[in-house]
Amino acid sequence: MTTTPIQHYINGQLADGDSGRTQEVFNPATGRVSGRVALASRADVDAAVAAAEAAFPAWADTPPIRRARVMFRFLELLNAHKDELARAITREHGKVFTDAQGEVARGIDIVEFACGIPQLLKGDYTEQVSTGMDNWTMRQPLGVVAGITPFNFPAMVPMWMFPVAIATGNCFILKPSPLDPSASLMIADLLEQAGLPKGVFNVVQGDKEAVEALIEHPEVRALSFVGSTPIANLIYENGARHGKRVQALGGAKNHMVVMPDANLDKAVDALIGAAYGSAGERCMAISVAVLVGEVADEIVPRLAERARALKVKNGMELDAEMGPIVTAAAHQRITGYIDKGVEEGADLVVDGRDFDGSRAGEGCAEGFWMGGTLFDRVTPEMTIYREEIFGPVLACVRVPDVATAIRLINEHEFGNGVSCFTESGSVAREFGRRIQVGMVGINVPIPVPMAWHGFGGWKRSLFGDTHAYGEEGVRFYTKQKSIMQRWSDAIDAGAEFAMPTAK
Ligand code: NAD
Repeated sequence: MTTTPIQHYINGQLADGDSGRTQEVFNPATGRVSGRVALASRADVDAAVAAAEAAFPAWADTPPIRRARVMFRFLELLNAHKDELARAITREHGKVFTDAQGEVARGIDIVEFACGIPQLLKGDYTEQVSTGMDNWTMRQPLGVVAGITPFNFPAMVPMWMFPVAIATGNCFILKPSPLDPSASLMIADLLEQAGLPKGVFNVVQGDKEAVEALIEHPEVRALSFVGSTPIANLIYENGARHGKRVQALGGAKNHMVVMPDANLDKAVDALIGAAYGSAGERCMAISVAVLVGEVADEIVPRLAERARALKVKNGMELDAEMGPIVTAAAHQRITGYIDKGVEEGADLVVDGRDFDGSRAGEGCAEGFWMGGTLFDRVTPEMTIYREEIFGPVLACVRVPDVATAIRLINEHEFGNGVSCFTESGSVAREFGRRIQVGMVGINVPIPVPMAWHGFGGWKRSLFGDTHAYGEEGVRFYTKQKSIMQRWSDAIDAGAEFAMPTAK
């Protein structure tokens, strides 16, 4: 069977690279190989960095309004091609088409934000900081910067990074996940059509070898990473050792607290969508339901009924609610966690392990399918509570009161997202203030901040100081320069030996 070669994009051209190494890309719905992605060597990374470095001086000198105009054209093209992009995501990732459309739409939000870059780069100015002297600060681009992205949002997560990086005047190298690499090339093509100069945006496909080359390359000034916590930690430490700015977003275990006064119909809907949407392969998926007081007895049977009734189908079907798992290896890992949950004594209410792929649609028998799984009476010592499963598995934990719920969540090693369903303003306020998590939803199950607010977790869900996109993104991709200026008629005669102060 012939498979599509998926190449690099360096200096405005598709390239095979010189490593000779490739990796199979699967359609997880059918289990069949759909493409073969190139895996970059160090020389391929060097070529991308050289192209970006060569493009940098002219791009950094391009007035922000003209950089913004490229972004506006890119935005129009993205809107015109968004379904095509969503279909490519469904084909390689497996998530349902409507969810892939949502992913592209949330990425487009960041491009819209980046279109406002002239306003964001205005800087600050103080007239007359001292007699005859003015002081202003401005932000300048870093140079060549790189983004290393995970499989679960092959379009949106790169769009958390490159629109802001490019609009601020940097040149960007994207290293996407080799599991679903095609979206990156579609994006490169649209940027080229939008008039972005060659070398400003490059894609190196690859694995660990490409990432290590990016970390070690002296011309790469900053690394943005999104992926699992062990790799985020590694990139943060190694990046810092090589003198780079690093923002490394890691894994998660997101809790949703349901208070006794919550609207339970809405809480059940929220839990089902947030736990099983995208087969739980979202860093903001809810994987733990924290059921306060008597809520559990009422809610668990309703969750079970809904988990059993999930429409688990080929993502291309418009009524599909959940697609397949991304790879056979991930399927095996998730199954292993469910086995472990049973072994450690959790109550397995719905078992998704034996889902027959042929139920998901024609040609799906060999795909990487499973149904939704629901556990009750999970306790904080259990592996399925402590570790990120990254699959369609919801664990219910029963607690007596909100104080216990907050303590439980604050003690967890991850702090990406959290949600609280309640009708009480004072519980909501207290919860928002006390919780040690970066992104909080009140009656919002997946509180992904909008483009101008910035995205990032706390604790072992983020290594570094700045969150992705929004004004934090602008700060991450620029360095501040302060200029103090006076002219000779304001300069007193004679050398000054004391520390200068305002006059
Ligand atoms: P991953 O950590 O396996 O891979 C992420 C990237 O790192 C990929 O580009 C991959 O090729 C590269 N990589 C993998 N192993 C490496 C190694 N040893 N050395 C250098 N680079 C390596 O993550 P994934 O499985 O693609 O994505 C799922 C994970 O990402 C989950 O843990 C999820 O929570 C997390 N995630 C976090 C956020 C967030 O915003 N915090 C968002 C999306 C996904």
